[in-house]
Amino acid sequence: MSISTSSNKTLSSVEPLSPEQPLRLIDAALWVTAACRGPHQEIFFPPIVTETRRAKRRREARAKEICGTCPIMAECLRIALQRNEQHGIWGGQTEKERRQVLLLASA
Ligand code: SF4
Repeated sequence: MSISTSSNKTLSSVEPLSPEQPLRLIDAALWVTAACRGPHQEIFFPPIVTETRRAKRRREARAKEICGTCPIMAECLRIALQRNEQHGIWGGQTEKERRQVLLLASA
């Protein structure tokens, strides 16, 4: 199954990482180039205080814009799907969007 990301990159599948690829090593190598590194990291996750729907839409749209410039967007999304990340924007997708991808992938 092919999965499209919001930047029109595609992932060929959602498969578990192999035991030969320790997740921490993959993470360390990848995240050095991540576009979300730096002072705007907090927009990728909901704030501790309640946010309005409008504020949430704006925050998520801004995070997705940043993801759209990220050189590791497809890999980030693949890892988030493999980990079943429950919170935040990963690979240009919200938790709700990732749940839908996983649902489609399991169908
Ligand atoms: S795709 Fe988005 S969340 Fe993932 S590393 Fe890049 S900027 Fe960060």
